[in-house]
Amino acid sequence: MDNCIFCKIIKREIPSEIVYEDEKILAFKDINPVAPVHVLIIPKVHVRNVMEIDHQNADILKDIHLAAKQIALKVGLGDKGFRLITNCGEEAGQTVFHLHYHLIGGKELGPKII
Ligand code: AMP
Ligand code: ZN
Repeated sequence: MDNCIFCKIIKREIPSEIVYEDEKILAFKDINPVAPVHVLIIPKVHVRNVMEIDHQNADILKDIHLAAKQIALKVGLGDKGFRLITNCGEEAGQTVFHLHYHLIGGKELGPKII
């Protein structure tokens, strides 16, 4: 989508620190990290958020999780643990409306909301 910043990152129109890429997924460092590891994992197709996932495109979720696992292994969090979070919609605090999962870790995380 033309005015989507994450689509621009995918097209290399905006710089980012890419940590993982495959045919369907891009992952890059969050510009405002809340933990030593804070990576955003996004599909290369523009999907607004979880509410736009359906049976046709649900493979995106599998691809994101497989990428998350690879990234966790790469940065040494496979055993230590990490959180994988997506904010869906305004009340959840979503600010960029291109589906993304925050992979966060590298310190004791807390407090837990749930
Ligand atoms: P959310 O609030 O869940 O929609 O998350 C959006 C995230 O995108 C925030 O954590 C921002 O810090 C991050 N962000 C916004 N613009 C950029 C950018 N150009 N490069 C990297 N991360 C970004
Ligand atoms: Zn987009």
